[in-house]
Amino acid sequence: MLTAHDPDLAAALERHVKVLAGDIGERNVFQPDALHAAADYIEQQWSVHGCAVTRQDYQVRGVTCANIEVALAGCVQVDEIIVLGAHYDTVRNSPGADDNASGVAALLEIAGMLQALSPRYTVRCVAFVNEEAPFFFRGDMGSLRYARAARLRADRIRKGIRLCCVTSIQRPATLSASFPIFARRADCDGSSTRSRRRPIFRSKLRRCRGGCQGSR
Ligand SMILES: [Zn+2]
Repeated sequence: MLTAHDPDLAAALERHVKVLAGDIGERNVFQPDALHAAADYIEQQWSVHGCAVTRQDYQVRGVTCANIEVALAGCVQVDEIIVLGAHYDTVRNSPGADDNASGVAALLEIAGMLQALSPRYTVRCVAFVNEEAPFFFRGDMGSLRYARAARLRADRIRKGIRLCCVTSIQRPATLSASFPIFARRADCDGSSTRSRRRPIFRSKLRRCRGGCQGSR
């Protein structure tokens, strides 16, 4: 289990939030330079971790928007996929520290740590764009675009898990799963991710760790 007692991890998480919310600030289609700076930062950080990064680019209001992904192939069931996501855009007039630089920071570090593991299922870490208004639940919403592409490929997505607002002091840090698209088609095992809230990192990462390593 990861805890705040890991000073290197805590420092890395803090650095990501400071860059995204402090140096870059409001980042959305209405602030395209900042949106692109955030996307570049995410891609660059994952590259530092040695992750192979892919992008799903699309145009919205003349602005290139991108979902950014790192995938780690499962070692037992490579065709079964878990999507771990966090949105990196912000609402307007907000630096988006908790919502959602915090979730992106966690996603960046989780993807890096997964490189050293052998998960049972394929894990895709995806930084989504355009999850805030006015795109929320509309056609240009990043996770909606992603889900449509996944459906065309007939991807077998078992779970969609969203990291959002993970530093809020008003409520415990959670793994929230409210990707509407993933919730509809992802849960092959019959459980609903929509209603679950769990302490961050613990259960999901432990399951990933338990994949091949647990069966060796
Ligand atoms: Zn949000």
